[in-house]
Amino acid sequence: MKLIFEKSKPGLTCLNIYIYKYKNTDASIPANLKRKKLANLPEIAEIDLIRHYIGLSKKNIGVDNQFYPLGSCTMKYNPKINEEMASLEGFTSLHPLCPENFTQGALQIMYETEKMLSAITGMDSFSLHPAAGAHGEITGIMIIKAYHLKKGNKKTKIIIPDSAHGTNPSSAALCGYNVITIKSNPDGCVDIKALKEVLDENTAGLMMTNPNTLGLFEKNILEISKIVHDAGGLLYYDGANLNAIMGKCKPADMGFDVMHVNLHKTFSTPHGCGGPGSGPVGVKKQLADFLPVPTIIKKDNNYSLCFNNKDSIGKIISFYGNFLIIVRAYVYMKLLGKNGLKEVSEIAVLNANYIKEKLKKYYHLAHDKTCMHEFVLSSKKQNEFGIHAMDIAKCLIDMGFHPPTVYFPLIVDEAIMIEPTETESKETLDKFIDAMIKISELAKENPDKLHNAPITTPVQRLDEVKAARQPILKFCD
Ligand SMILES: *Cc1c(COP(=O)(O)O)cnc(C)c1O
Repeated sequence: MKLIFEKSKPGLTCLNIYIYKYKNTDASIPANLKRKKLANLPEIAEIDLIRHYIGLSKKNIGVDNQFYPLGSCTMKYNPKINEEMASLEGFTSLHPLCPENFTQGALQIMYETEKMLSAITGMDSFSLHPAAGAHGEITGIMIIKAYHLKKGNKKTKIIIPDSAHGTNPSSAALCGYNVITIKSNPDGCVDIKALKEVLDENTAGLMMTNPNTLGLFEKNILEISKIVHDAGGLLYYDGANLNAIMGKCKPADMGFDVMHVNLHKTFSTPHGCGGPGSGPVGVKKQLADFLPVPTIIKKDNNYSLCFNNKDSIGKIISFYGNFLIIVRAYVYMKLLGKNGLKEVSEIAVLNANYIKEKLKKYYHLAHDKTCMHEFVLSSKKQNEFGIHAMDIAKCLIDMGFHPPTVYFPLIVDEAIMIEPTETESKETLDKFIDAMIKISELAKENPDKLHNAPITTPVQRLDEVKAARQPILKFCD
C-alpha cells in the first residue's frame, strides 16, 4: 500500500469536492505572505484522502474485528456503552480546574470507583492517578520506599520472581532498589527456599503476580507473605489482570500490602498503541497516608479534594489521572455488579482451560495443571520440524486471528501464551482451536507454509530486532 506522500500530485486539493480537478495555484495570496519553501505536505483530492484512511483503518486489527488471545493483555471486548457514557458532554467538557461545587458528579464517580476497587481487592484505599500499569507499579514502589524511610529503615532491595512481567524489575530499579531475581520451582511457582536465601533485613519488599504469568495460582502465598512480613518487607501485588480472581479471592487476604490494577485490562477500557490507560494503586491502611495527592474525601454527601497529606509521595500526574478511562471502568463495574464480575472471572478461567485441554495433545504444555485466566504452551514439539513460536504466530495471522503473546514469560522456551477472556463465544474458541490444530499438522506436512507466513498482510516478515534497535520513524525529510 502506498503512503499518502506517494499518492501526492502537485495541484490536487481537498477543496474541490464536487468535481475531481486540480486547483488553480495562482491564488491571490500576497507575495509577502507566501511561503519561501513549500511545506512538505501531500497534495491529494478529498476522495483519495478518504479512501486512503478508510483503507488503512480496514487493515487495523483490534478486538472489534478479530479474536485477540494476547496473553497477559486481557483483550476483552470493550462494551460500547462505556464509550457512550464517557462521551457525555458533562464529562468531556469538564475542566479539571473547575471548582468542587461544579464537579460533584465527577468526584463521586472517582470516589465510588475507588470504593469498588477496594471491595474487589480488599485494599483499604485507592488512588486512581497512575496512567498505566507500569506507572501504578512505580507509584506503589515509591509508597513502599516512603513507608520504610518514615520508619527510619533504608532498605536496599526488592525481590522479584523470574516469571514476573518486565515492568516489575524496571519499576523497582527506577526507585533506586537493587532487583534480586529468584528462580521459579519446577511447578512454575515461587521457590520458597530460594526466597528465604535472599530475604533479609535489607529487603524492602517482594513483587508478585498471582496468578502468575504462567496462569498458575501460587498456593503457598500465605506462607510467602508471612516470611516476607516477618523479615520486615512489604508485598506488592501486580494486579494488571484480575480476570481470574474477581469475587473469588482478594490480594489483601493473600497478605499483599500494595497493588495496582489495570482498568484497561480487567475493566474493559480499550488499550493498545500506547494508551490512554489507567493503573490505580491500592494500599492497606498503614500505607494510606503515602498515597499521591490529591485524595478524594466524602463528608456529609459532599466530595472534596485533599492536598495536604504530609506523608504523601506527592503528585505523580497532572490533575487526577485519565478521568474518561475511569468513567468507562465505572460503567463496566456498575453494570456487571458483584455477581457479574464474579461470573467474568469464572468464564475467563473456564475458557482458558477449555482451549488448554483441547490443545495439549498437539502442543507442549508448560505446566499441565488447571490454569487461571491464561496458560502457556510451547512450540517444543514443532521445533523438531524447524517450526518456532514465531512461525505459529505468523500463520495465525493468515488464518484470521491475532497471535497470542510469544516468547513471554521468559522462563518457558518458545512460549505461546494464550488468554481468551470471557467475552468470546464457544464457536470462536473452537475456530481458534481448529486453526491451532491445523498449524500443528502443517508443521509436519508443509513447514514452509509456516516459514513463509504471513502472506495476507501488506508486509511479510519484518526484522523486529532492527525495528526496535534502529527505528526510522519518518518517511521523508
Ligand atoms: C500489562 C501488564 C503490566 C503493565 O501494564 P501497562 O499498562 O502496560 O504499563 C504489568 N504487569 C502485568 C502482569 C501485565 O500484564
